[in-house]
Amino acid sequence: MRRQEPLTPKELEQLRRREGQMAWFHAAAVGTLLIGAVGTSRYGDLPWVRHALVAAVAALVLAGGVLQLRQRCPRCGARLASRVLVLPPEQCGACGVALTRAPVED
Ligand SMILES: [Zn+2]
Repeated sequence: MRRQEPLTPKELEQLRRREGQMAWFHAAAVGTLLIGAVGTSRYGDLPWVRHALVAAVAALVLAGGVLQLRQRCPRCGARLASRVLVLPPEQCGACGVALTRAPVED
């Protein structure tokens, strides 16, 4: 595998935007689970509360799967299969470009 040039700022920007979406999704998932936990402890005997929670969790799992599938290498467009939900792999499995984020310089 040929050694790839590091990602350009534009490609890094794409990667960072995707990570931002994942971070938002993660926050939304945690929020939903917290609301669900509070909801079930207070109103757990109401059937519609349990149904709403099941629907919310199903929607989160679906959205997480879609976001995960949309995560692609900004260089070659290959799907980035990562074992960790939020973090992309360190390197693209197809073209080998390093996906590590450059240190932020402001
Ligand atoms: Zn790639």
